Amino acid sequence: MRITDIKATTVTVPLEAPLRHSNGVHWGRFVRTIVEVETDEGITGLGEMGGGGESAKLAFEGLKPYLVGHDPFQLEALRWKISNPTASLYNNRTQLMAAIEFACIDIIGKKLGVPAYQILGGKMRDEVEFASYIFFRYPNEKTGAGEVRTIEQVVDHVAELKAKYGFTSHKLKGGVFHPDYELEVYKAIAAANPKDRYRFDPNAILSVEQSVRFAKAIEGLNNDYLEDPTWGLNGMRKVREKTHLSLATNTVVVNFEQLSANILDPAVDVILLDTTFWGGIRPCIKAAAVCETFQYGVAVHSSGELGIQLSTMLHLGAVLPSMPFAIDAHYHQLTDDIIKGGLMTYENGKIKIPTAPGLGVELDYDKLGQYSELYQELGGYPYDRDPYRKDWYPLLPNMTEHWADPAIVK
Ligand SMILES: [Mg+2]
Repeated sequence: MRITDIKATTVTVPLEAPLRHSNGVHWGRFVRTIVEVETDEGITGLGEMGGGGESAKLAFEGLKPYLVGHDPFQLEALRWKISNPTASLYNNRTQLMAAIEFACIDIIGKKLGVPAYQILGGKMRDEVEFASYIFFRYPNEKTGAGEVRTIEQVVDHVAELKAKYGFTSHKLKGGVFHPDYELEVYKAIAAANPKDRYRFDPNAILSVEQSVRFAKAIEGLNNDYLEDPTWGLNGMRKVREKTHLSLATNTVVVNFEQLSANILDPAVDVILLDTTFWGGIRPCIKAAAVCETFQYGVAVHSSGELGIQLSTMLHLGAVLPSMPFAIDAHYHQLTDDIIKGGLMTYENGKIKIPTAPGLGVELDYDKLGQYSELYQELGGYPYDRDPYRKDWYPLLPNMTEHWADPAIVK
């Protein structure tokens, strides 16, 4: 089988409300580039990539000369063709590689008539558990609804998510307000749901000292782990020396060299595998095997997703030997999807692993057209800026004057 063409379509799908984080804001919508890899046997594979609010269409089109004529079964050769670690110093293609890998796995599954998990080791479970992903949110630009800012709003938001989706593990995305305020919020959620589990992720914005202080203040709670409190393997190592909490990362261990550095001199306990950041589903499975060997925990990270990317996370979750932690997804923040059937559904905090051949999802071309037009209308957005704080930009660690004020709506 040979690849004959690659089509890339950039879409914008609205979120319930703008999501605030330490590096900026998701401006009320996700921008995602959907990839269709076509073959000479009439089978088309689907891939997806984010890109921090920007289109990746041109980058995918630039890969055509490398990919046309390639056999989609040759996944290892594909890696060396387009993301050789030294050649790609000039044009880092890890995330592009991931989207093409998803599409090739989709093609292989469709050709063989089996779901992706079947060619990745076989599924260990039928459904995957998700953590709620709680963001501080600005009000929806059009409706004014959906704001999450005050402690009461956060506690109510968690109650709503629990009632609607059944989550019992909660991730608070912090790094927006002063850590003392976010600590109060975290404790209030934990007090409201004492049997649930918690994780806090300020996207590496705290200093080592602030991180240690925060860690000590939550040590008595039902924590899964503390995620990326500070930046860098050395910073995380310093925090780890002074807390008995497990530390997790999706920022400083995102490739094999960093994983080996973390094993030689541990800084982090739980590695959050991201099918995009690591360059595909297969590298995540390889990394999980290394983590199993050295007894590091793993979980699945979300860098934003529509249904195609979500499916890659579900298939990864299907084949991991153990799933000690609920996985992350922004998915419940979306108002719609571009796959047939609309948004996948949660039951008791879990989503069923797709069982149709390949990734098990199909494009809804009406929705693809509708949200492609919305992208044409609205364009991209700078993920690392806040539309309501014009002169603000992210700093690591943050400085006092850079924290948002929880008394201000926007
Ligand atoms: Mg994170």
